[in-house]
Amino acid sequence: MGTIGRKIVGLDVEKLVEEMNKALADEWLAYYQYWIGSKVLVGPMRGAVEAELVEHANEELDHANMLVDRIIQLGGTPIIKPENWYKMTNCGYESPEDPEVKKILEQNIKGEQCAIKVYQELVKMTEGKDPISHKMFLQILEDEVEHEEDLEALAEDMGTCECT
Ligand code: FE
Ligand code: FE
Ligand code: MG
Repeated sequence: MGTIGRKIVGLDVEKLVEEMNKALADEWLAYYQYWIGSKVLVGPMRGAVEAELVEHANEELDHANMLVDRIIQLGGTPIIKPENWYKMTNCGYESPEDPEVKKILEQNIKGEQCAIKVYQELVKMTEGKDPISHKMFLQILEDEVEHEEDLEALAEDMGTCECT
C-alpha cells in the first residue's frame, strides 16, 4: 500500500499486523482442521457433514487470503513459517483423533466460537480507525457466525447438539 494509504490508519500498525498474523494462524489451523476432518469423518449423515466441512475449509482459506493481502498492504510481513502457526494462534487446533461426526462437529463448533470472539475484537479495534480492515473483519465475522450456525444445525439434526 502507498504511503498515504498507510498513514490514514489511525492505529498502531505494528500491533494491528500482529493481531492479523494471529488471526492468520487461526485460519490456517482451521483450514486444516476442517479439511482433514472431512477426510477422516465416520458416522451418521457423513455425506452432508463432509460437504459442509469442505465448504468451510475453503472459506477459511479465503479468510487467510484476505488477511495476507491486507497485512502486505499495511507494509507488514505475513507468517512465513508454519511453526509459527502454533506459536501465534488464538484458537488452537483440535486434532480429529476421534473421527466420529459428533465429535468433529463439537470440535469445529468450539473453533468457530473462538473465531467469532477474535473477529469481534478486531472489528472493535479498527472501528473508526481503519475502515478497510474494519470492513474486512466484518465480512469474516459474518462468515464465522454462519459457520457456527451451520454446524450447530447439523448437530441438532443429528440430535447431538448441546447448543445453548
Ligand atoms: Fe475463518
Ligand atoms: Fe469459520
Ligand atoms: Mg456453511
